[in-house]
Amino acid sequence: MRPSLLRWYRRARRDMPWRRDVSPYRTWVSEIMLQQTTVAAVTPKYEAFIAAFPDVRALARAPEDAVLKAWAGLGYYSRARNLRRAALEIVARHGGAFPATFDDVLALPGVGRYTAGAILSIAFQKPYPVVDGNVIRVFSRLFGLRGRAKDPAFVQEIWARAAPLVPKSAPGDWNQALMELGATVCAPESPSCGACPVSKYCVAFKKGLQDELPLPETRREPTPVRWTCLWIEDGGKVLLWKRSGAERLLKNLWGLPEAGRVAAVPGKTIGAVAHSITHHALTVELREAAADAAAKLPPEAKWVPRAKVRDYLVSSLWLKLLPRSRPDSARRA
Ligand code: SF4
Repeated sequence: MRPSLLRWYRRARRDMPWRRDVSPYRTWVSEIMLQQTTVAAVTPKYEAFIAAFPDVRALARAPEDAVLKAWAGLGYYSRARNLRRAALEIVARHGGAFPATFDDVLALPGVGRYTAGAILSIAFQKPYPVVDGNVIRVFSRLFGLRGRAKDPAFVQEIWARAAPLVPKSAPGDWNQALMELGATVCAPESPSCGACPVSKYCVAFKKGLQDELPLPETRREPTPVRWTCLWIEDGGKVLLWKRSGAERLLKNLWGLPEAGRVAAVPGKTIGAVAHSITHHALTVELREAAADAAAKLPPEAKWVPRAKVRDYLVSSLWLKLLPRSRPDSARRA
């Protein structure tokens, strides 16, 4: 099975910027970006990010706000913060050289077993396995394993199956071949078994179970969340709010203040959006308001020149809302 899959991968793999010029740093950045984000969304962001921060030292030197801005639109901003924290650790503990042992890579902030395996196999050619959603689906079908992709015991079983299969030569190609097969041929719905390079080894294909494995997930309804946010503008400045680390959503990011957090009475509605963030269905209404000039601003609030607002509001939620938030005038009471 391995030679068949490797031959297919080397012929059919998609061209991606992080596959052209492989280094531990570039593999790491691409793998973190690709967590929960599509290749199409990541590609332009990755190229701009690498241009802005070409190596570990450049990333470690960058202010957090600059890293968050380069990350804008990818979501899950803790990934960007962890990247920068990890870059600082690599400079402090490893002299700026990317660590090459599994334990050292795993110890970096934001790096789990999957990412450590990907970096070591792809960039260092060390035979560590990777297991992501694609690999779980491919192995479930190849070996005819009945389990749910989000069941931790089933995922453990896949890791145990994956480890002895990783070849000592070209482990990175092997891991990427499995993921590529899952992404392009062994798709979640209607896999293209006729075009599959390993169909003759596949238990699900032999038994006609390819549409049944892995077993379907039990569906989880998103939690509804409603916010009323305020557009408070005065003298060409807009009042923004730094969300704390204790927030349920958009932790530690700048946003528009929610009603009730500043002394201001919500006025007319000037925008509304629906937005999804990690199992939350968010509905945000934007209302014009005027700040109470006499009231003391809380430390989380800050007046920002209107032209700079987009530098602060990096979440795509605000990008959806902002074009509609242009009141003709705003007053300060
Ligand atoms: Fe997936 Fe079909 Fe290939 Fe089996 S034969 S690995 S089900 S694409």
